[in-house]
Amino acid sequence: MASSPATTSAKPSAATKPTAKKSAKDKWQSRAVVRLIEAGCVAECPVCGERVKYRARHRDQQVICNVYDKGRWQRVEQYHLDCYTEADCPHGPVE
Ligand SMILES: [Zn+2]
Repeated sequence: MASSPATTSAKPSAATKPTAKKSAKDKWQSRAVVRLIEAGCVAECPVCGERVKYRARHRDQQVICNVYDKGRWQRVEQYHLDCYTEADCPHGPVE
């Protein structure tokens, strides 16, 4: 009757790494951030269908959304800030 060797599978090489502090959940969810509209922007706002246009001297803001579906990145959408909030923040609150 061989007593099984005490296999403590503690490998020092696999020490706990300081990986992503944010929960993985957050990472793969759609999110929205506010940014200034940049010159040369050619995106269309999905709400009103108009260009998210840069206007000199206006410093307009846009909402940029990274859209995820079931944990996979789908696309980037750009909204007018007003349109986004009026549409009830379809991709979550703006940061
Ligand atoms: Zn719009």
